[in-house]
Amino acid sequence: MITSAELINLVKTYDPEVNADMLRKAYMFAMEAHGTQKRASGSPFFYHPVEVARLLAELRLDVPSVITGLLHDVLEDTSVTFEELEEIFGSEVAFLVEGVTKLSKVNYASSKAHQTENFRKFLLATSKDIRVLIVKLVDRLHNMRTINYIASIEKRKRIALETIEIYAPLAERIGMNVIRDEIEDIAFYHLHPNEYSAISVRLEQIRSKDDNFVQNTVAELNRVLRGAGIEATVSGREKKAYSIWKKMRQRNVSLEQINDIIAFRVIVKTVEQCYLTLGVIHTHFPIMPGRFKDYISIPKLNNYRSLHTTVIGPLKQGIEIQIRTEEMHRVADEGIAAHWSYKEGNVVSSGEDPKKYNWIKSLLTILQNSGTPEEVMDHSKLEMFENEVFCFTPAGDLITLPRGATVVDFAYEIHTSIGSTCIGVRVNGKIVPLKTVLRNGDQVDIITSPYQNPESSWERFVVTGKAKSCIRKFVRSQEKEEFVNIGLQLVKNVFSSTKTVFAENLVDYKSFSCDSLGKFYYSVGRGTISLNSVRTMLSDGDGYRSVVEDPICLMDYTPGIAVHFSECCHPILGDKIIGILVPQKGVVVHITSCAHLGRGKNVFVRVKWNKEDEVESTFISRLRIVIINQRESFSIIMNVISSSGASIANIKVEHRSVDFFDLLVDIKVNDVIHLGEVQAALRTCANVRSVRRL
Ligand code: MN
Repeated sequence: MITSAELINLVKTYDPEVNADMLRKAYMFAMEAHGTQKRASGSPFFYHPVEVARLLAELRLDVPSVITGLLHDVLEDTSVTFEELEEIFGSEVAFLVEGVTKLSKVNYASSKAHQTENFRKFLLATSKDIRVLIVKLVDRLHNMRTINYIASIEKRKRIALETIEIYAPLAERIGMNVIRDEIEDIAFYHLHPNEYSAISVRLEQIRSKDDNFVQNTVAELNRVLRGAGIEATVSGREKKAYSIWKKMRQRNVSLEQINDIIAFRVIVKTVEQCYLTLGVIHTHFPIMPGRFKDYISIPKLNNYRSLHTTVIGPLKQGIEIQIRTEEMHRVADEGIAAHWSYKEGNVVSSGEDPKKYNWIKSLLTILQNSGTPEEVMDHSKLEMFENEVFCFTPAGDLITLPRGATVVDFAYEIHTSIGSTCIGVRVNGKIVPLKTVLRNGDQVDIITSPYQNPESSWERFVVTGKAKSCIRKFVRSQEKEEFVNIGLQLVKNVFSSTKTVFAENLVDYKSFSCDSLGKFYYSVGRGTISLNSVRTMLSDGDGYRSVVEDPICLMDYTPGIAVHFSECCHPILGDKIIGILVPQKGVVVHITSCAHLGRGKNVFVRVKWNKEDEVESTFISRLRIVIINQRESFSIIMNVISSSGASIANIKVEHRSVDFFDLLVDIKVNDVIHLGEVQAALRTCANVRSVRRL
């Protein structure tokens, strides 16, 4: 255990003006307060806060943080009060200690109401001062390092679960990756001992195959960089079992397929040198496409900055290389803690935008607005809002959605117009289908197109009321449009069946108590106004009539014979029809399924629609197809269309973005069934995002 003098000396290495008396006082205070308390290991409890303080000092955190480390358990575990702390150590330290104490009280055993209340207080404290979270995470780190001493397997598992579900995500969120890696790995060992040892054994095998692999690769990278005049520190570090396991699950690959079991790091002086180094590496080693990431231009949410690339390394193996400056490296390891450390005697937050912590405040707002605590929380984990999922916009704003929400829900949550025009989406940088269900911490980047409209199929997978009602509203209005079109077509058919030239001023919609033409067509389309009554309207009117082209072609009789449409079944264009020869009247055309056909002795005449041939052979349908912007996408859809027996009459790129092409494709098909087959075939292509008939 570190003595108070050693601790003071440690702090002095980065803060020469440390108030040594205050530190010493805190050290003694904690020792006295914890008295004879013992830890599970049998050692004095006091060892724990001292160790936490030492870890904080190693992170070069400011003195109030180190003092908080010493005192962090006195409010919870001893009779010391907040007022006492405030009186002796000031309000800053008292506030920090109280904040750290809050989350300690969130555990699986306490009642839900208490969990929520404590978590709320903890977030409140954290949102005012991120150091609360830093101290808490270091506290958890030490607890995990000593978890072996806890006898009960059940208790160890509970703590491990809590660590993976609450503390590791929090650590990641503020970029304290070294701590996250370690606590996750220990937790993994206790939660899944079999998987842990399986991975460890495999790692050992891989290592023994070539024990100089890291050394030789580092040497070769060094040689190449030196040759280019770049001064760099190169190192290789094996990933933790847990992070390998996570990758295997995420990418569904085997251990052998993971290239980045060992991450090689190149640390250089300046940002320019980062890119220079990247260039040198890419010219010396073949790159593996699709793996390059520039987190310097676009830092991660937690401020992580680095260049990542994967190349076929000097030993002809895929290797991941991370290139960064020393400053970036420190932030990559320590995250926010790096900003809270002492620099030249001052606490600097080095340009940290306080808005960065908005996610904490948002979380707080959610807690405050969400009814009874029982409603909010079923487990004491960061994902404790069992019914909610927290995601982020590219700008880092928190969007809260009900669990099960998809990216379309997310888009509607941002704005109705974003939802309605959403064409594709990147989740954590990867393009995923629109029906993808979101998970906590996902960063969601919605891609929109002005030509996109909500699709009725979305209704099947969205979960939020907002998205549902917007989609339904649009679909309904589209349906309405369709009924209007059908109605218009029907009315036109009635006109031509009575040999009248269609003109809108002949449509006396008011006599049907409709206040507009549109409503009239809609009612006709829906069938609430009968075609018979429309026909009656026409014969009553005194509008201009002229003979139009006979829509019916008689197959067995010479043209010129009078043709009538039956009053019983009202055939319209496209119906299957048959004629009956009626003496002194001519041919009366019925639908083949008309009930009147069976009556009496009829002389049948084969008739067919004039335009049917044409319709059949040149049926052109317009599809809106969204494809992923990849070189092969075009040829794939061409192939699919032609192998379905259809052909492309016209193709137009209506809109293109980095990720998608939005195409209008006119295709020639035989009929509606054929069209359906083509659409289905297109939908099965991985490169096709959506297909819709216009
Ligand atoms: Mn503690």
